[in-house]
Amino acid sequence: MYDKSKELFERAQRSIPGGVNSPVRAFKSVGGTPLFMQKAKGAYMYDADGNQYIDYIASWGPMILGHAYEPVVKAIQEKAADSTSFGAPTQLEIEMAELIISMVPNVDLIRMVSSGTEACMSAIRLARGYTGRNKIIKFEGHYHGHADSFLVKAGSGVATFNIQTVPGVTAGVANDTLTAAYNDLDAVKKLAVEHKGEIAAIIVEPVAGNMGCILPEPGFHEGLRKLCDEEGIVFIFDEVMTGFRLAAGGAQERLGIKADLVTYGKVIGGGMPVGAFGGKKEIMQQIAPLGNVYQAGTLSGNPIAMIAGYTLLNELKNNPSIYKELEEKTIYLRDGLNEVLKAWGRPYVINQLGSMISIHFSDHAVVDFASAASANNELFKKYFHAMLKRGVYLPPSAFESWFLNNALTYEDLDTTIAATKESLQELL
Ligand code: PMP
Repeated sequence: MYDKSKELFERAQRSIPGGVNSPVRAFKSVGGTPLFMQKAKGAYMYDADGNQYIDYIASWGPMILGHAYEPVVKAIQEKAADSTSFGAPTQLEIEMAELIISMVPNVDLIRMVSSGTEACMSAIRLARGYTGRNKIIKFEGHYHGHADSFLVKAGSGVATFNIQTVPGVTAGVANDTLTAAYNDLDAVKKLAVEHKGEIAAIIVEPVAGNMGCILPEPGFHEGLRKLCDEEGIVFIFDEVMTGFRLAAGGAQERLGIKADLVTYGKVIGGGMPVGAFGGKKEIMQQIAPLGNVYQAGTLSGNPIAMIAGYTLLNELKNNPSIYKELEEKTIYLRDGLNEVLKAWGRPYVINQLGSMISIHFSDHAVVDFASAASANNELFKKYFHAMLKRGVYLPPSAFESWFLNNALTYEDLDTTIAATKESLQELL
């Protein structure tokens, strides 16, 4: 069934570390052979052996309207004929910035980069430059990319592989990253007292997606916002996952909270390597060439990347019913999964908001990293493989959110629910 993928994985390991260009793809924690993909269309992916999968990863978020979305593919093809890169400004970059600003509350200026990592790394540097302070607060199990400052108690692959300390990150850098449990406002307030006048920024995934999907508790973000105002701390929403996914205006719109800086990735590039950071004018004006906080990129604002993102964002802006449809599908899936899991009779938790959802095999609420990590993640691995065998492609770790795409049909959702029922029987 996976012969070709097996062959490719063996070959890949001879020239690429671990056979992959991003760790979680290796299936190391769930075991088995990572599937090498050949093509994808709409909600379906096809591996090198020709197997078809219903996709709940959506390239880890970007493919919100499904794979090979025709307007995006066409726009890329047309744009490529005019050169794939200039290293000089283009009108399209202005149009992209204007479009983002029109969709998102509270962004005066926006700078394009090529990944979510770059966006978050740059936002932190900017917050430090703006405040003249060194320390940041992040949350346990949150992932903001692989810049040194963020690899402290990080989520995603760092949690999946249980890496406690990342070799290569200096103690000096790590010491400037303070951490608190997500949803624990008192812990953050305590840090702010202990390090008064030293904290440049609080960076948070507004809805956490790198330890499964975990929702903010009522009042949590409001409390962080207030604390940042009182202490002169830059409040950064990392919307790499939630941006243009939870609403056209992202988590800021969905949760009714305004951050000082916001970072984007994933959906913003329509599947091309794009990230962005933006926010309040007085802060963004510190970026070079206006200010001395240096940040740059040879391929930043790349025309192919911009046209892909621009085309996708335009579709999302012009068809706001997409968000309603996506959420209705996700709730339908949640309810169907609830039914079969309840009948199964073992402890579980489903967390969901908008088109983000995850299952934890847990007998307690999953509200932070500790509660996510103490779920039965061995059982999740078995569930993952049982689903894969039935043609459903879930994230290969309980420390990841699932992402629905709007090409999914109700029939696909029914197939997924039925596959879960069968998989659970097999796991008994
Ligand atoms: N922030 C968040 C919330 C993310 O989920 C990710 C990637 N999963 C990143 C930042 C880093 O983005 P990238 O992988 O594009 O560097």
